Amino acid sequence: MTLLERDPNAPVFWKGNMPVTSRYTFGLAGERFFRAIKDEGRILGTRCPECDITYVPATLFCERCMAELTEWVDAGEIGEVHTYTLLFEDMDGNRLPEPEIVAFVRLGDGGLVHRLGEVELDELYIGMNVEPVFKPAAERTGSILDILYFRPVD
Ligand SMILES: [Zn+2]
Repeated sequence: MTLLERDPNAPVFWKGNMPVTSRYTFGLAGERFFRAIKDEGRILGTRCPECDITYVPATLFCERCMAELTEWVDAGEIGEVHTYTLLFEDMDGNRLPEPEIVAFVRLGDGGLVHRLGEVELDELYIGMNVEPVFKPAAERTGSILDILYFRPVD
């Protein structure tokens, strides 16, 4: 087929590889947030004194009043199960031996989506108090997975 015979409305494409040279970064607030998890085993938030909101994970600016947030606070060691779901398959669609519990754990005025552990399904309820279980300090990498899971608090 020559160029003149080609349909001018047909999509144009090329097969090949495109090198990606950019890197994802956590940003300034995320850097400090994940460094505190890695180095101190703490979950940090930032607080807007004007709106009386504690953002967890930490952010640099208030979503309501756009103020720059400079007050870093410990989100506390106890969160609350706001909602949860069960996973029966892994990312590749393989059946898990046991269903995995994933919850939104409320911390401050925000929270984290994470696994729950050391809890039986028939004991689990919305509003349950839970605490993070961190990996041993030497094994942490600065990831949300430095928190192994959240477990119930008596
Ligand atoms: Zn605000």
